[in-house]
Amino acid sequence: GDQNSSYYKIVALGAPGVGKTAITQQFMTSEYIAFDSSMDQSEHEKTISVLLNGVESTVEVLDGIDIQGDLEDIRADAFLVIFSIAHRDTFDTAVQLLQELRMDLGTDRTTILVGNKSDLVRKRKVTTEEALEVANQYEAKYTETSAALNHNVDELLVGTIDHIRYKLNPS
Ligand code: GDP
Repeated sequence: GDQNSSYYKIVALGAPGVGKTAITQQFMTSEYIAFDSSMDQSEHEKTISVLLNGVESTVEVLDGIDIQGDLEDIRADAFLVIFSIAHRDTFDTAVQLLQELRMDLGTDRTTILVGNKSDLVRKRKVTTEEALEVANQYEAKYTETSAALNHNVDELLVGTIDHIRYKLNPS
């Protein structure tokens, strides 16, 4: 088939320190990464080959986006809007980003709100319920991850790709 149809770009957004780099680094250890892939890896830009449901996709993951920049100019199939469940201000930034994405790009792009650092249970400042509510408001999915414990990170990668494929070809 068409080579371009299986090339996806995922962009991680969020306040500094929320775990954008940690999450995208964990993507590299996913069991879905094709073994034969020798892909480009730099600090903030990674290209990986993912084998999912028997279909191989090339996935470019970017985590070094300057959030002052124009979101319209970012070509992406999916946005991961990441915050830390232990840092209230990062949630505020995430809500702002969801708002900007909605205004600049509408709802045709896959958007996933990610509450990272779920291991910091006793430091939690943002409840699952309010994050879900905000995600619903912006027609985004919500998931909680711990890059530190590698919890739910594989699921995030796979869920994102599934969602991109679904949006491109609903059936
Ligand atoms: P970025 O600025 O968004 O790319 O954030 P980094 O990936 O550089 O992470 C910032 C800091 O948070 C680092 O010290 C990470 O080790 C730490 N960190 C990232 N993810 C987690 C997590 O899930 N749990 C905890 N406890 N720390 C994390």
